[in-house]
Amino acid sequence: MKKKPKILIVGSGIVGASIALSCLNLGADVVVVEKDKLGGAASSKSFGWINASFAESPAYFDLRNAAVDAFRNLKTELNLSQSVSWQGTLWWEDSGQELKNQFNNLLDRGYAAKLLNNNEIKNLEPNLKDVPEAAIFTPLEGAAEADRVALAMLRRLTDEGGKVISGCIVEGLKFKEDCLSSVQTNIGEMSCDMVALATGAAAENGLFGCDWKLPMQNKKGLIVQTSPVQDLINHILMTDDVHFKQNMDGTLTAGEIFSGDLEENIVALDLASDVLTRISRKLDFSTNLIPTNIKIGTRPVPIDGFPVVGNIEGYKGVFIAVMHSGVTLAPLIGQLLASEMLKNSKSPLLGSFRPSRFVN
Ligand SMILES: Cc1cc2nc3c(=O)[nH]c(=O)nc-3n(C[C@H](O)[C@H](O)[C@H](O)COP(=O)(O)OP(=O)(O)OC[C@H]3O[C@@H](n4cnc5c(N)ncnc54)[C@H](O)[C@@H]3O)c2cc1C
Repeated sequence: MKKKPKILIVGSGIVGASIALSCLNLGADVVVVEKDKLGGAASSKSFGWINASFAESPAYFDLRNAAVDAFRNLKTELNLSQSVSWQGTLWWEDSGQELKNQFNNLLDRGYAAKLLNNNEIKNLEPNLKDVPEAAIFTPLEGAAEADRVALAMLRRLTDEGGKVISGCIVEGLKFKEDCLSSVQTNIGEMSCDMVALATGAAAENGLFGCDWKLPMQNKKGLIVQTSPVQDLINHILMTDDVHFKQNMDGTLTAGEIFSGDLEENIVALDLASDVLTRISRKLDFSTNLIPTNIKIGTRPVPIDGFPVVGNIEGYKGVFIAVMHSGVTLAPLIGQLLASEMLKNSKSPLLGSFRPSRFVN
């Protein structure tokens, strides 16, 4: 019998977990190693909006659009009923001509979107007090608790014979005759045929044995979780000064600015309380919102803002998958990268997102 290829995945966030499960599904012997908490760093501090609304290039839109479908199809493999929901989004971060431009942009790309007026918004969100003149409704979008999705994937992986090792820091890579032979870790050397680096924001640190380094512009963001409240909102709301969603257990998850960076010297508690005040001002609702968890996460952002996925040129057997919007993208990236690693099948969807665009 042919020996199964042994694949080591570094990082147990939603991206690493997805690659791992896809590799296992294609018949590989898979080990996931994680230095910290299982479920990931950014993945456990993410807003988790699944969307293709914002894509700075046609290629990126195509990738994100296909990724939303791949996420939806995950339910055939995993029970995610408590961690993923498909309530659609109401968006009014901009207003006036800018909102119309964004809407036309979505229509041009064939994205499911509708421009709603004040009354239509009020009908969809009866508890909204501060109702905007117009908003874009994108009904096919959803939201995920990304670390819970990652853990569900890892559970499936171990149920099917894969391994997960936590407290294991990958420090370097070793090669024999120009081919990857093993990874060096704090608990010893592990032999493998291929490695996938899904190390998120830490990718900028590089690894011994590999001179190629990913230039990054990682950005911090604040997420606040509240205690459960009565049914308040029906959609993901992306407003002019706050974005928030209501989870299956009644809690709210909220964030401040969508893709910027946190100001230096920010006091998390003050900002969290400000975020909740902004929500309260928007809703006809008398109960105090109580913050139960305030998280500052680091978005893994490659320097040009786009995903980096594929083989690192000159390093046979070494693959990387690092990106912002990794929640939206993870299920598809896992499938595409696993096919590339194990079947040598390269998807045109990844053509613009190769590591080779960074030469250092
Ligand atoms: C505030 C915030 C809001 C966001 N909102 C959204 C959103 O709405 N929609 C969206 O799609 N995306 C969003 N993102 C981005 C998204 O969360 C990330 O792109 C995604 O979680 C990245 O997943 P990952 O698995 O690549 O990284 P991570 O979840 O960070 O996992 C990487 C793992 O690798 C481990 N690791 C690193 N180095 C090593 C090593 N040497 N050895 C062993 N283990 C190692 C780390 O400990 C970590 O657990 C947001 C992120 C933040 C912070």
